[in-house]
Amino acid sequence: MPPEICLVAVSKFHSVESIREAYIAGQRVFGESKAQELVQKKAELPNDIQWHFIGHLQSNKIKYIAPFISMIHSIDSFKLLSEVNKVAARENRIIRCLLQIHVAEEETKFGFSPNECIDMLRGGAWRDLRNVSICGIMGMASFTDNQAQIMEEFNSLSSLFHILKEEFFTDNVAFKEISMGMSHDYPLAVKAGSTMVRVGSSIFGERVY
Ligand SMILES: *Cc1c(COP(=O)(O)O)cnc(C)c1O
Repeated sequence: MPPEICLVAVSKFHSVESIREAYIAGQRVFGESKAQELVQKKAELPNDIQWHFIGHLQSNKIKYIAPFISMIHSIDSFKLLSEVNKVAARENRIIRCLLQIHVAEEETKFGFSPNECIDMLRGGAWRDLRNVSICGIMGMASFTDNQAQIMEEFNSLSSLFHILKEEFFTDNVAFKEISMGMSHDYPLAVKAGSTMVRVGSSIFGERVY
């Protein structure tokens, strides 16, 4: 993997011991998808870990992760963004966030459609949120073996990123991340311009739910 790409080791459903092993091997950025699980693991692990939240985030759970979270990848509405802002203000923090974009064909995946995202940003209200920093976008490709389809979806995330950069974030150096690519498709994501890959099972093995 090119060194400039951030590897988020997705440790959801894996033990503190597995995370510690990866930590000892040098990994510092870990991704979790449930607030409670994350809080429990954090308590048992070294403080210099950067925890990324990658799952669907309910408003009432923000307070558990707000004191320490390094980045939230899964902002899927303006309402959630402003809730995060409110809790972050109480913590006196600026929380880095990514806007989750829905490009896959599955209906179950959360996120803005590209047009919803553009409309939200044109609305402009996000500019008043002083305690969140919008650092880019996150997305998932369809779960399929069709490489061309996956590539097309990653390319559409990439082009949306550049459209948003141009229209809303030209002067904002923080807006620079395209979080895309998981165990089965990260090589394609990297080809399409990913800056952050979220890899779980290739590192930790299959999850046992
Ligand atoms: C679980 C998960 C991953 C990691 O998936 P793997 O297939 O295990 O690499 C990445 N991103 C999100 C949003 C996830 O929920």
